[in-house]
Amino acid sequence: MKRHLSKTVDELQPSGIRRFFDLANGMEDVISLGVGEPDFVTSWSVREASILSLEKGYTSYTANAGLLELREEIANYMDRKFDLQYEANSNIIVTVGASQALDIAMRAIVNPGEEVLIIEPSFVAYGPLVELVGGIPKFVQTNGEEDFKLHASKIKEQLTDKTKAILICSPNNPTGSVLSKGELEEIAAIAKEHDLIVLADEIYAELTYDEEYCSIASLEGMKDRTIIISGFSKGFAMTGWRLGFLCAHEDLAGAMLKVHQYAMMCAPTMAQYGALEALKTGEEDVQTMKKSYRRRRNFFVKSLNEIGLSCHKPGGAFYAFPSVKATGLTSNEFAERLLLEQKVAVVPGYVFGESGEGYVRCSYAASLDSLQEALRRMERFMNQFTKVKEK
Ligand code: PMP
Repeated sequence: MKRHLSKTVDELQPSGIRRFFDLANGMEDVISLGVGEPDFVTSWSVREASILSLEKGYTSYTANAGLLELREEIANYMDRKFDLQYEANSNIIVTVGASQALDIAMRAIVNPGEEVLIIEPSFVAYGPLVELVGGIPKFVQTNGEEDFKLHASKIKEQLTDKTKAILICSPNNPTGSVLSKGELEEIAAIAKEHDLIVLADEIYAELTYDEEYCSIASLEGMKDRTIIISGFSKGFAMTGWRLGFLCAHEDLAGAMLKVHQYAMMCAPTMAQYGALEALKTGEEDVQTMKKSYRRRRNFFVKSLNEIGLSCHKPGGAFYAFPSVKATGLTSNEFAERLLLEQKVAVVPGYVFGESGEGYVRCSYAASLDSLQEALRRMERFMNQFTKVKEK
């Protein structure tokens, strides 16, 4: 049947994360630090609002761009949280997760052969989404030894006359790093000088623990050339609802809406009613979850360092990205052996690109008990390497 496949899809590599989960799924007593989602159930008030919408019979399509009331709440939220002013009618589209927002953004701006710069290590979907529209992903390396700090010179090295956009993600999946204002200013300067779009994946913006979040769109001259991609999955613990949104200049939003209306019509109606409630009344719950992640981050990262897995303190999201270089294993060997020998699932860093090799991604969005047990097992695993060294 291969002859029936599109060449682009046929050549697309399946995500390395999937392969790993398939392995872990077949085993018993595994502690998974692999999945990238909150361990909280969505707030009851949000679930209730969605149920109520069904009881009222709100089961039709909404406007293509999403319920106007929800877009208005998103506009308020962006203003309140990030000091960014968007119009519900022309700048905001409600999407099926940040995933679909990323997809329609690529489809709306990238012509075949054009290049999108992606800062590594990066979320596994970025490269394939660029390739699916005939674009070329070009990866900008960062270095774990410098806590994955972004150097503008590395971006400049990758610029060509085909460069269309720079895709950034802060807080980052998989490193948890938050781009500093200085780094954002450097990216902004390049975008302005070379007339590029910035795709800002801000899905983890709610989850920053040490500093106030700064959106690149809020920097001078950047709002019109930035497409903000965000959603409810992470900060509001709503992964299964499949609800996200994007904010952009009206010309860009108009183009993305064209794709959205043909490919998706609109996001699910009952989920939109839930999201509306989340924005109206969810702030306290978001802060409670955030506090809990912050506590777990502090404990988990400190403990990783104590057992010989050197790890910088991530400023956001719910991932730790420790180095496994001291073991002499590749990230894949480390993750596979940790799973088989101690039944702890983590994600090998190579799946997030070349810069991720030598590291593994551990999600600390797991109960404190699970984290403690995972750490005990990881310590046992690490002992074999320290013993070898001591001999
Ligand atoms: N961007 C990043 C960086 C992510 O980690 C994820 C989810 N893992 C997404 C986008 C997609 O999120 P959503 O559930 O809103 O589609």
